[in-house]
Amino acid sequence: MAKKQFKAESKRLLELMIHSIYTNREIFLRELISNASDAIDKLCYLSLTDDKVGLGRGDFAITITQDKDAGTLTVSDNGIGMDKQALEENLGVIAKSGSLQFKENLEKGEEKSDDIDIIGQFGVGFYSAFMVSDTVTVISRAYGSDTAYKWVSSGADGYTITECEKDTVGTDIIMKLKADTEDEHYSQYLEEWPLRELIKKYSNYIRYPIQMMVTKS
Ligand code: ADP
Ligand code: MG
Repeated sequence: MAKKQFKAESKRLLELMIHSIYTNREIFLRELISNASDAIDKLCYLSLTDDKVGLGRGDFAITITQDKDAGTLTVSDNGIGMDKQALEENLGVIAKSGSLQFKENLEKGEEKSDDIDIIGQFGVGFYSAFMVSDTVTVISRAYGSDTAYKWVSSGADGYTITECEKDTVGTDIIMKLKADTEDEHYSQYLEEWPLRELIKKYSNYIRYPIQMMVTKS
């Protein structure tokens, strides 16, 4: 299947993310949790006026699944989801000024600043998943749609979108983690307690429960 190309500026941002020497890679979790929460906000809001949503305030949750055998970490939500067009438009571009600002700072070399949390000032967004992943797969079914789509990318050379199965409305972000190196231990994200600590650290202000699923090997 032919790969679709990222828009030029997105490609550049992705490359910066992937090759970033930035050490605070763990913030990808903050970005994905906040996206999951935003998506739930949207469906939760809709549920106030639309009975067809069939979910109430207490039904919404974010689920984080560790699969050691597969080497994957998955962040799932039962929020509004994305249809094919939304996957194209939202994951193929720099969505927000925070990302743009971040990119500009990276290019100016300010990421090397002693201020270790300079990245924390910006929402760096979905692309931060590529700081820890070889491949990112997004499986999503939009509210109101029976069809689900799978978006897959291994980085700056593009992405594919295909139809797939998903029983429920919402989004799964599946990260095939990079292999450990001497300096970066991506496998820590597949360990239960380190991940619990990280979730705690990055889920301030998140108003929905975050469940952890650990598949024991
Ligand atoms: P931002 O959150 O600042 O808009 P991101 O790069 O984090 O930028 O996300 C880009 C867009 O992708 C979001 O605005 C949203 O439309 C879409 N998106 C990302 N994650 C999800 C998700 N889990 N569910 C639904 N839409 C999502
Ligand atoms: Mg975001």
